[in-house]
Amino acid sequence: MPSIDVLADRLSTYLDDDQVNLVRRAYFYAEQAHDGQRRRSGEAYVTHPLAVACILADMHMDHQSLMAAMLHDVIEDTGIAKEALDTQFGESVAELVDGVSKLTQMNFETKAEAQAENFQKMAMAMARDIRVILVKLADRLHNMRTLEVLSGEKRRRIAKETLEIYAPIANRLGMHSMRIEFEDLGFKAMHPMRAERIRTAVKRARGNRKEIVNKIEESILHCLAREGMEGEVSGREKHLYGIYQKMRGKRRAFNEIMDVYAFRIVVDKVDTCYRVLGAVHNLYKPLPGRFKDYIAIPKANGYQSLHTTLFGMHGVPIEIQIRTREMEELANNGIAAHWLYKSNEEDQPKGSHARARQWVKGVLEMQQRAGNSLEFIESVKIDLFPDEVYVFTPKGRIMELPKGSTAVDFAYAVHTDVGNTCIACRINRRLAPLSQALESGSTVEIVSAPGARPNPAWLNFVVTGKARTHIRHALKLQRRSESISLGERLLNKVLASFDSRIDKLSPERVQAVVAEYHQEVLEDLLEDIGLGNRMAYVVARRLLSDNGEALPSSEGPLAIRGTEGLVLSYAKCCTPIPGDPIVGHLSAGKGMVVHLDSCKNIGEIRHNPEKCIQLSWAKDVTGEFNVELRVELEHQRGLIALLAGSVNAADGNIEKISMDERDGRISVVQLVVSVHDRVHLARVIRKLRGLIGVIRITRARG
Ligand code: MN
Repeated sequence: MPSIDVLADRLSTYLDDDQVNLVRRAYFYAEQAHDGQRRRSGEAYVTHPLAVACILADMHMDHQSLMAAMLHDVIEDTGIAKEALDTQFGESVAELVDGVSKLTQMNFETKAEAQAENFQKMAMAMARDIRVILVKLADRLHNMRTLEVLSGEKRRRIAKETLEIYAPIANRLGMHSMRIEFEDLGFKAMHPMRAERIRTAVKRARGNRKEIVNKIEESILHCLAREGMEGEVSGREKHLYGIYQKMRGKRRAFNEIMDVYAFRIVVDKVDTCYRVLGAVHNLYKPLPGRFKDYIAIPKANGYQSLHTTLFGMHGVPIEIQIRTREMEELANNGIAAHWLYKSNEEDQPKGSHARARQWVKGVLEMQQRAGNSLEFIESVKIDLFPDEVYVFTPKGRIMELPKGSTAVDFAYAVHTDVGNTCIACRINRRLAPLSQALESGSTVEIVSAPGARPNPAWLNFVVTGKARTHIRHALKLQRRSESISLGERLLNKVLASFDSRIDKLSPERVQAVVAEYHQEVLEDLLEDIGLGNRMAYVVARRLLSDNGEALPSSEGPLAIRGTEGLVLSYAKCCTPIPGDPIVGHLSAGKGMVVHLDSCKNIGEIRHNPEKCIQLSWAKDVTGEFNVELRVELEHQRGLIALLAGSVNAADGNIEKISMDERDGRISVVQLVVSVHDRVHLARVIRKLRGLIGVIRITRARG
């Protein structure tokens, strides 16, 4: 284990003195913060962050990442606040440490299994800065390297998580070397016996194979020389976990896997790759169907190489990878290669995000050239530039939603019925507004009530197409059924004055009139009446026109129950409440709007039977009705509380309150109060009158 001085020396090969000093300072801060804490191995705790920083130094990461590495366990393990780090080391470093801590706190194990891929995405989405992931990967790598000291159970848990989450993340980011190390260490910890058996078998096979490997290598080198090409040829061995997976996944025997001889040829430029390919195909016969051109069509993580399999002497299969030096570096280090090999070039963007972006851009371009960008966008771009959120259901299932999604989007993603009947939500066990945008990692629980219906206001904040479509659809259905029932009542009311009803008329006659209005079924016509597009009066005349009688002009009023829903609304201008004399104004498309009989806004059309109909309140009318009151009173302290107290005392509810000061002494308060009916309103007014200083109370009427 190198000391901080050794590390600082190493850093000075690619960082400024100032930057190296900042890393030193972070080290000493961590040393002090972790003072007295020890690792399971007995070493001082600070050796761990130092080792993590060393891993990142090998990747030539910037000084902020190294500082974050030094401090990465400080928030979690020593209780030092993020703000303190902010003051000491600046916002970027504090954010990095905070991001790493959040990832550490995520307990992958308690959640449902078989969702490893979503966890990877979630982890990525939670880390806004790619350096957080890289520091976390380095942290995990050091923990994996020092895993033996842990108890069996803990060791297996960490190993499993590494295999399921961190190795794939390293793979996504193209960091092949790190992925291999994760996999082999994880495999050894999970299945020590199997790992050991394979290791000894490989060792034995290596001895037997040595002669053949050398022969093949020689013949390839000879072939390259003959063609006048230069290249490094090296034998490759599969890593233990790779062999294990092949044995399990493809059900191959160990010998079958080991009978394949694998080589890599690294050359100077792309052109040479193809020429070398031609040469080796000339040397040994290629196996049909096994050639892959990952240079023209790179893998999702940007991996590039030519792959081919040849029949060697005596029919021995030889797998060959051909690539340039640069491809080799990218294949091993992926996104980290941008720090490793390009950090000193002047024209490279400086910020980490810019670098990550550049890597993504580079891979994206490769993919686009290959006409195969879809897979890449799926697997990498989303992760690095999170435009998705990942949240848990209460049972631990992960849902993937577009950024900005709300609990309503979530509810519809779970199930249409859940969406349609949702009334509230809990985010991380706390009640939260349905409109709140969800954050990755939250647990979302939907509270639903049978018979509840979607709220039209949801359309203002939902972001998913699914939620939008289903809300619209549900509202349409709801509106239709309400319109039909209102239309039926309106029509029956007119018919009643003839001692008739829809169901007393002959079905033929009804169908004939329905057809006259170019509708298919009676419901359509009733819906039209309910929506105010057609007058019940006119339709009734048509239905009865066989009788040739004129309709009487005086009809009993239609009773309003307060439960008509979307097709019936109460005019904002005069706010009628049960007990008030009312009329209904039929406006096309909006259905019926209930006004006070005395409302000025309908003065002109009041007696036009085509537009207005007489209404009454049903005896069993239910609901809360808003009414606006204007209270003039002497100005006094605590006036609003006094008013609210009185309204409350009369079981009323204040929906809105606003105050104008008329002069220094008199205030005018506008109150919107919800009440059941006029009797209830009278009670509220009486209470208000009882207040000291009240001069006048009037009800607003349009
Ligand atoms: Mn750590």
